[in-house]
Amino acid sequence: MHFSELGLHEALLSAVAREGYSTPTPIQQQAIPAVLAGGDLMAAAQTGTGKTAAFTLPILHRFANEPNRRAGAPRVLVLTPTRELAAQVSESVETYGAGLKLKTAVIFGGVSPRPQISAIRAGLDLMVATPGRLLDHVREGHLDLSKIEVFILDEADRMLDMGFIHDIKRVIKSLPAQRQNLLFSATFSNDIRKLAKGLLNNPKEINV
Ligand code: AMP
Repeated sequence: MHFSELGLHEALLSAVAREGYSTPTPIQQQAIPAVLAGGDLMAAAQTGTGKTAAFTLPILHRFANEPNRRAGAPRVLVLTPTRELAAQVSESVETYGAGLKLKTAVIFGGVSPRPQISAIRAGLDLMVATPGRLLDHVREGHLDLSKIEVFILDEADRMLDMGFIHDIKRVIKSLPAQRQNLLFSATFSNDIRKLAKGLLNNPKEINV
């Protein structure tokens, strides 16, 4: 299979070609059409399978089709367990989204909140965040999550291992009811299934 068969915007096909990818990985082959179709997704995938591009590319597709949009409250939220992963996901977004004039911010703790607040105020399309600092911004009234259209929980099993379940639930409560949800996890434990049941609507399940 070739990337061009997935229905992605030209700008994204160029980005993929620039990165030297020739064929989509198994998770990309399954997840990209599912995300483009707009449904919820539950995917079991380890790091290294190409999972980041599997959700990043179809999400960027919607922005690629709106070249004249104006950034405001963020429309896409990726939640990750660690700052390292948040930074990595954000880097992938920058790489694949080069040329889309995307406004993105990466939000995590342990650093000054001020530049983050400035970035939020300036208007965003997409944000990658760890739960604690994200909730600080919501609580302090700096961040409006009511315009989120797509919510991605990355490495959900690690989030639960790190004790983030209550934070995740709080974040979900701040989101609008109408949205697309994507859950990625290395394993589907009972706890993950329980979380998925409360979060996802009729999800497509992918195992690679
Ligand atoms: P991830 O599983 O998202 O951490 O990605 C693992 C690595 O695979 C990253 O370095 C990506 O740049 C690379 N990658 C993602 N998709 C592809 C692809 N279709 N072909 C070759 N490499 C890829």
